[in-house]
Amino acid sequence: MDTTEFRKRGKEMVDYIADYFEQLEERQVFPDVEPGYLRPLIPDSAPQEPESFEDVLKDVERIIMPGVTHWHSPYFFAYFPTASSFPALLADVLSGGIGCIGFSWAASPACTELETVMLDWLGKMINLPEEFLAGKDGEGGGVIQGSASEATLVTLLAARTKTIRCVQSENPELTEADIMSKLVAYASDQFCATLGTTPCCSFDRLLELGPICNKENIWMHIDAAYAGSAFICPEFRHLLNGVEFADSFNFNPHKWLLVNFDCSAMWVKKRSDLTNAFKLDPVYLQHCHQESGLVTDYRHWQIPLGRRFRSLKMWFVFRMYGVKGLQEYIRKHVKLSREFEKLVLQDKRFEICAEVTLGLVCFRLKGSNELNEALLKSINEARKIHLVPCHLREKFVLRFAICSRTVESVHIQFAWKHISELATELLKA
Ligand SMILES: *Cc1c(COP(=O)(O)O)cnc(C)c1O
Repeated sequence: MDTTEFRKRGKEMVDYIADYFEQLEERQVFPDVEPGYLRPLIPDSAPQEPESFEDVLKDVERIIMPGVTHWHSPYFFAYFPTASSFPALLADVLSGGIGCIGFSWAASPACTELETVMLDWLGKMINLPEEFLAGKDGEGGGVIQGSASEATLVTLLAARTKTIRCVQSENPELTEADIMSKLVAYASDQFCATLGTTPCCSFDRLLELGPICNKENIWMHIDAAYAGSAFICPEFRHLLNGVEFADSFNFNPHKWLLVNFDCSAMWVKKRSDLTNAFKLDPVYLQHCHQESGLVTDYRHWQIPLGRRFRSLKMWFVFRMYGVKGLQEYIRKHVKLSREFEKLVLQDKRFEICAEVTLGLVCFRLKGSNELNEALLKSINEARKIHLVPCHLREKFVLRFAICSRTVESVHIQFAWKHISELATELLKA
């Protein structure tokens, strides 16, 4: 494919994606296929001779689409949202076009510098304490990780190194292995301090945990993967109170802030805690610049060496929605979850199982777990909407998460009517 054909095919691909979004509501949200469906549909090995773009694109509709779960369908209410917006999609194309690997400042200065500034922008949007921002001469700063899980692992490793060095400085006779064998990580069944837990979007009490961690010299990491995006709205910002006690914090704009996967934003108060843990400097990665306040080498802030130009997605989205547009988006989703909650509460057969704070409603039929398992099965087998369950204490609970960018009140009303009709059938049986 040369640039002439790329121009043509690129436009066709944009049309294909635009059609996909325009007709998404008509596609069945969850596929009918069985495990192993795909292998018989494609050859056993890669073709020896090149094939045409038309042939490939035809097979997308024939082979891929029948096996896609449509996460952006307005009938998708499972898991948590995954972000999707046109500005982010276009920025991702540009990122692919530039195709740089921004592991050091010199490896692509714009890639590093835009990321640092975007994490400052985002930090200000959620009113993070100054200490987490890089600014011109701050000791903190932000970085994009691929996922919240990576952010948690990175901070755990940094905390370990920091503690080992601290103990070693007071007890030089101890080896790293001696110290390592005595380290303890405190966690709940959700792992670290969490704002917006995955099962039911509950919130740890940072104002109680934080002072204890600070007093005992324990690194506190806070994961707000889903809920963090809501903190751009002043009315939800109080949920982040206590972050000032933390050493590190992350949330996923790729969940609820319209920045397509992957983009997990992570901040630390002391960036030297990360670089001390991860710094490796073989000569081929060294550059004539001394590492100073102005030169950030993000390879020291993460597990991999390579990294994509992901901050373009944030830049496009923040500028083209504006903070106001993003706030409206969050508020619309919260309003829709309240609408669903109200419908559940009006039906005496059902109960709400956890406080509805943001865009997730946990609910169930009053009755046994088996009854609720049967209800979920009938919902997902009907394929009109898609939900997943969770366990809260011993109870089997259905999760209804507001997910799609295009979901509206009509879809909520449809989903509830559908669920309540299936419940009626089930209770008759
Ligand atoms: C979704 C979620 C995660 C996992 O996020 P990844 O970015 O996929 O690793 C972690 N923690 C919480 C609280 C979540 O809701």
